[in-house]
Amino acid sequence: MTKAEIPFRDIAIETASRETIARIQLEGLRRQVAQGLKTDFYRKRFAECGISSPEDIGTPDDIRKLPFTTKGDLRDAYPFGLLAVPKSEVVRIHASSGTTGTPTVIYLTQKDLDRASDTMARSLMAAGGTKDDVIQNMMTYGLFTGGLCFHYGAELMGAMVIPTSAGNTLRQLRFMKDFGTTMIHATPSYLLHLHAAIEESEEISRGDLRLRKAITGAEPHSEELRRKIEGKLGIEVYNCYGMSEMNGPGLAFECVFRSGMHVWEDRFIAEILDPDTLEPVPEGGTGELVLTILCRDAMPLIRYRTRDLTRFIVGECECGRTHRRLARFTGRTDDMLIINGVNVFPSQIEEVLLRTNGVGANYFIVVEKEGVLDRLTVQVEITPETFADDARVINALRDRLKAEMSALITINPAIEIREPGSLPVSEGKAKRVEDRRPRE
Ligand SMILES: [Zn+2]
Repeated sequence: MTKAEIPFRDIAIETASRETIARIQLEGLRRQVAQGLKTDFYRKRFAECGISSPEDIGTPDDIRKLPFTTKGDLRDAYPFGLLAVPKSEVVRIHASSGTTGTPTVIYLTQKDLDRASDTMARSLMAAGGTKDDVIQNMMTYGLFTGGLCFHYGAELMGAMVIPTSAGNTLRQLRFMKDFGTTMIHATPSYLLHLHAAIEESEEISRGDLRLRKAITGAEPHSEELRRKIEGKLGIEVYNCYGMSEMNGPGLAFECVFRSGMHVWEDRFIAEILDPDTLEPVPEGGTGELVLTILCRDAMPLIRYRTRDLTRFIVGECECGRTHRRLARFTGRTDDMLIINGVNVFPSQIEEVLLRTNGVGANYFIVVEKEGVLDRLTVQVEITPETFADDARVINALRDRLKAEMSALITINPAIEIREPGSLPVSEGKAKRVEDRRPRE
């Protein structure tokens, strides 16, 4: 790809100098502090940190004077505790996909929505999307931002958008064929499910589809899984990162070079901090991503602790964008399982499964207490071909998985081989871990 072919929505801002970005961030941060002061929640929090006016923020580093915000704070502020504009200015709300407890809600004015759609359109264009694309959005519509917020961005870019929402795979395939869908938005597990459905279908084959790209997010997944999906479907898979608290899926996105997700730093301030000390990690080090939104008036959110672990990729991207890139997420601070004193991330288990032939699309991790020790069990679906093989082959596969996992995580897991299709497939966020240990 030549330089002139690299797609941009707003080349001036996307390739702005770091000085310009720092200036935009400082102005944005002051504006957010001003909005925060209109809420009881932040007025009180700021006072505890000695902040009473936007003028107290003199340099970009002054962000460190500001308090953190957590998901618990958002729950406590439900329903309107973080509203910084008159209620009549709000045109839409969204809420987290959490299924239990008090939801976390965001509110948006029309201007906020316009900026969110523009950010999403910018992301899609960075990934090579154009107005000629036919984009089928297979994420759930409703309170979840992956539906509507993605949809409005794709429309703003000028694409033809098919809002099929999640599920009903046969209808998804039919629409993909009949309307010439070129781009889809779905979770990684659903992409695998879609591939299996194409393989099984008697009416639709891969050759009937014009699919060229998939945007995937909402679930952490490994580079191995991306390559597996790309190989199976013959498409390019782009990672995106978003969260409902930050207006959904457009927050950080891969460009056509697919080497990390550019976080749009004119609209968000990203910090990577040591989750224990809450001090910045050295350049390129892994830590917790902490985000401040700069493009929303209705609901400021300052130094929001995402609990997601990642790092900045050091160096410049070939595309010429100056907005820094986030590496693939290695897990969440609260996903981390402590098993017999050892830190284990489900992503490490997934990594072994994906590089092993004969393993199917789904797995499930169970942690239990057995006497004084923790016991880790990995339930693994195998492919129909391997399942049809004799017991020796299956036993050898089990032994190999056990050996590779214990080498990587230093814990000896039990491996349970399962029949293809026996573990649940989720169409939203996959739940792959169950911790059955009694809470102390
Ligand atoms: Zn790039």
